[in-house]
Amino acid sequence: MHYEAVIGLEVHAQMLTESKIFCGCSTKFGSEPNTQTCPVCIGMPGVLPVLNRKALEFAIKTGLAMNCRISPYSRFARKNYFYPDLPKGYQISQYELPICEHGSLDILVEGETRRIGITRIHMEEDAGKNIHEGGGNFSFVDLNRTGVPLMEIVSEPDMRTPREASEYMKKLRAILRYLGVCDGNMEQGSLRCDANVSVRPAGQKEFGTRAEVKNINSFKFVEKALEYEIKRQIRLLEEGGKVIQETRLWDSSRGITESMRGKEEAHDYRYFPEPDLVPIMVEQEWIDMLKASLPELPDTRRERLVSQYDLPEHDADLLTSERPLADWYEEAAASYSLSISGIAQYKTVSNWVTGELARLLNEENGSIEECPLKPSQLAGLLNLIDDGTISGKIAKSVFEEMYRTGRNAEDIVKEKGLVQISDSGAIEKAIDEIIARNPKEVERFRTGDEKLISFFVGQVMKSTRGKANPQMVNEILKKKLAG
Ligand SMILES: [Zn+2]
Repeated sequence: MHYEAVIGLEVHAQMLTESKIFCGCSTKFGSEPNTQTCPVCIGMPGVLPVLNRKALEFAIKTGLAMNCRISPYSRFARKNYFYPDLPKGYQISQYELPICEHGSLDILVEGETRRIGITRIHMEEDAGKNIHEGGGNFSFVDLNRTGVPLMEIVSEPDMRTPREASEYMKKLRAILRYLGVCDGNMEQGSLRCDANVSVRPAGQKEFGTRAEVKNINSFKFVEKALEYEIKRQIRLLEEGGKVIQETRLWDSSRGITESMRGKEEAHDYRYFPEPDLVPIMVEQEWIDMLKASLPELPDTRRERLVSQYDLPEHDADLLTSERPLADWYEEAAASYSLSISGIAQYKTVSNWVTGELARLLNEENGSIEECPLKPSQLAGLLNLIDDGTISGKIAKSVFEEMYRTGRNAEDIVKEKGLVQISDSGAIEKAIDEIIARNPKEVERFRTGDEKLISFFVGQVMKSTRGKANPQMVNEILKKKLAG
């Protein structure tokens, strides 16, 4: 039997506000435990929470960017449960009247656009953090995180493969970062993902019983955890078993999901309207203002890059995955078009950014914001290739040095004597030597083994330390070998 997976994601995004959602405490990450707390966020009796306007603004902006309907009237609710990191004994969240509903987000998978529904986006406060030490003998509670503003973004069960789920997460993260409402840092937990997953025989309409997988904290793990969980459920059904509705924990070190607890239902939490906060009334005027203030978002920017620079969709998609990367590209493209080379080859610029630059950033886990290399310097390098000063091959090593030092291409080329040899006399001399040294290969080439041309090119490039103009080497070689 062929099975199909049904996946929905619940993403918690920490909002980039300076203070907490219901009090003035700082949200800074990594401070000494319990130094960013006050009676409100540690839940002393009688204190009154006050909503952070910025948090509301961020939630509305996110909703608008994901095509949601913004509720003119919404309210907070108490979600009751006990946990040591939750001193109040309840979490202030939103329940039946969330701030945003009925949105969507488009993802691109294997060249095809898929629209994933957004059920709702609501605001809530984060809980604290338990720290277990001494081999489980001691437990500490750090309440710095208590009351940090979160958005919970809940998708419809519209995804069918782990790949779609990770693309959805990537797109979601990109939008949040474009908006500047969340830093998207999964390692620090500013973006966390729980997945609801079930399987059903292909063609069946009803959903299977779902399990919720918690604790997924990287894009890689989104796919791995889902792949594991889907296989587990299929195996269970094939062996005649049943999937239980439960909460499972993803253990990234062992690569498995494990049963954590039976899935609680909404009624277990005894939700009721939060009596200490007034309902939220949002005027259309403010919504319109926020809508007008939205930056150009990834999809729109991708389309613009395709039409403005004549780039393939794939390039534009990579470039717009991060706003600073797209900015970097556009700046490099602009300096290149202003440069001496005349007509700018925007695709060439994209090749360098999505190729060499992305590779180096990836290898060193670097961020484009901290990269010492400036976009105009790439244009400088491209000019040196265009006017024949250096070969494309040499350019790659120059680029790497530029990336590490932030120096200009011209200076590096001069200092290291990397100027391309375009003097036909010098190239001929090098070729003559290679031909004289390899009579057997010359014979084989002349009797029809034409693939050997690459051997000769390689030898010439080696003897000139990569500096010979490759086009000239090819031409002269062909003439001499034919000779
Ligand atoms: Zn506080």
